[in-house]
Amino acid sequence: MSQHRSPVILMYHGTPGSRPDTHYSIHANLFAKHMRFLKRQGWTTALFKDLQNAQALPEKTVVLTFDDGYADNYQGAFLPLLESGMKATWFIATDCIGGHAHWLGTASKQTQMLTKEQLTEMHSAGMEIASHTCSHPDLSTLSLAQQQNELSTAKSVLEKLLSTQVTSLAYPYGRFNDDSLIAAEQAGYRLACITQPGWLGSDPNPFLVRRIAIFSGDSVSSLSRKLTFTDNEVSWQKIARYYMNRARAKLTYNF
Ligand SMILES: [Zn+2]
Repeated sequence: MSQHRSPVILMYHGTPGSRPDTHYSIHANLFAKHMRFLKRQGWTTALFKDLQNAQALPEKTVVLTFDDGYADNYQGAFLPLLESGMKATWFIATDCIGGHAHWLGTASKQTQMLTKEQLTEMHSAGMEIASHTCSHPDLSTLSLAQQQNELSTAKSVLEKLLSTQVTSLAYPYGRFNDDSLIAAEQAGYRLACITQPGWLGSDPNPFLVRRIAIFSGDSVSSLSRKLTFTDNEVSWQKIARYYMNRARAKLTYNF
């Protein structure tokens, strides 16, 4: 596995400056370490929408995505990225702008969402602000008409706010059905991502772009393995198994 499978898309959520409340968020300090590692290793960041023309991207390209739009991303991710000349894409649930992530239950500091002003500023600074529907529903439980409404309303809310075309989408909870793909295309999205692990080349369908999930306990070494193996589960046991099978396959091949 010496050559990189690229572009690779990473999925982050919150980046609090204190201990993360959920498995999905990572401490801002750890996020900063991830970014330093990517720079050191020669990775270039691109926006999710840049994947429409993936052939034009450098060999080691990573797309950083943030789901939901947590307010702690402003300090914990946006400002540090801006300072180091890196970029990222944010998937926003438009009903929650300036509010809180209602699907997580009781409101807390870590469920607070980015405001309109912050999103506008981030967009002006070269970040991509994209759609994560309006109300963050499980799309697979909705009718086609309801899905169309969620997808096209969120798109127009963001387009009005940012005065730009919005063409990227992330399905909430990574859940979707056949109608979601139809609704996404009809609403005018060009690319949509899911939460199944893999790299861009794993699926040719532009509405099924795979991502690698980053969790609160992912050290730099774990990030490094995730980039190499483009998988969410990168325990040493699993990797040892991978190399063992590979060695075995090689032996069989040679003899
Ligand atoms: Zn979400």
